[in-house]
Amino acid sequence: MKFLDQCKIYIRSGNGGGGAVSFRREKYIEYGGPDGGDGGRGGDVWIEAMDGLNTLIDFRYAQHFRAETGIHGMGRNRHGAAGADIVLYVPVGTQVLDEDKETLVADMDVPGKRVMLLKGGNGGWGNDRFKGPINQAPKHANPGQEGEERWIWLRLKLIADVGLVGLPNAGKSTFLAAASAAKPKIADYPFTTITPNLGVVDLSTNERFVIADIPGLIEGASDGAGLGTRFLGHVERTATLIHLVDATQTDVVEAWKTVRTELEAYADELGDKIEILALNKIDALDESTVEMQREALAEASGSEVRLVSGVSGQGVTELLREAYALVRERKAAVAKANPEDETNTGWIP
Ligand code: GDP
Ligand code: MG
Repeated sequence: MKFLDQCKIYIRSGNGGGGAVSFRREKYIEYGGPDGGDGGRGGDVWIEAMDGLNTLIDFRYAQHFRAETGIHGMGRNRHGAAGADIVLYVPVGTQVLDEDKETLVADMDVPGKRVMLLKGGNGGWGNDRFKGPINQAPKHANPGQEGEERWIWLRLKLIADVGLVGLPNAGKSTFLAAASAAKPKIADYPFTTITPNLGVVDLSTNERFVIADIPGLIEGASDGAGLGTRFLGHVERTATLIHLVDATQTDVVEAWKTVRTELEAYADELGDKIEILALNKIDALDESTVEMQREALAEASGSEVRLVSGVSGQGVTELLREAYALVRERKAAVAKANPEDETNTGWIP
């Protein structure tokens, strides 16, 4: 599944530092010459594509990025230090667009690619630079050059590696919240009016994946609510499904079957998806009831049934680890089969 993660940010390069007006002042030297140093240049704004990042989430918390101003020049010909540059680190695949949201400013398509977005202002000259045969005591210096500013859009195609399925109220949203460290800001899925909920699961710094809770994938699929095949046609080939079944309902087998029937109606798109089956909300039941439900479901499905609770967090990490192992395995297999495949690009650690 692909979604657009995007955000608008403000960037500004540093002003140059001003040049100094200063004259030598030494005992017994009556007319010391000019000795005002130059201002330092302002910091630049750079952007760099970095492996291992997979969303633009960091740009949601901070929207304004300013490089430092150069330091002013000083007397005795001391030049001001340059202002520090700033570097925005973005995931590989990020596109930088102008404020109009159309003009491509930079395509951060390869790891390590670095582009200067704004140049810092030059430092102003100190008065020492202006001395000449005619004016030996210039009393003026240049101010630093102003930095530049602009608004830009960052845009990234997000790929969901794991889809959450289950009946309404199975606890998908709750599970997603418990599972994810961060929620990217995403645009509506272009083919439907639904807004998928995406979360970034952060098992460790280099074990991250994107999980999607798609309201309406099941709920609306059978009545052809406009998603159906068009939506599922875009389901990422490598995606794994986590199927949540509410353990507190009487007939867990029936609930599981309902969802399976919907999924099988889209066998072409979902036929090759691996389903990890889990009974959810086990915090609300005693152990023997949980066991009973598990047995019933395991028997009907013929597959292993995990036990989880999005509320208490029980079993969540284990389930995510299992899903991640599958995601890696499948990505590796796809990458091997089609080295040029587009699902092969991106952030696989
Ligand atoms: P969704 O429709 O699948 O997204 O389900 P929600 O996450 O919105 O949850 C539906 C209801 O079940 C809400 O009232 C939740 O508070 C409740 N719920 C979700 N997860 C759990 C859980 O792990 N344990 C318990 N006891 N209740 C849960
Ligand atoms: Mg929900």
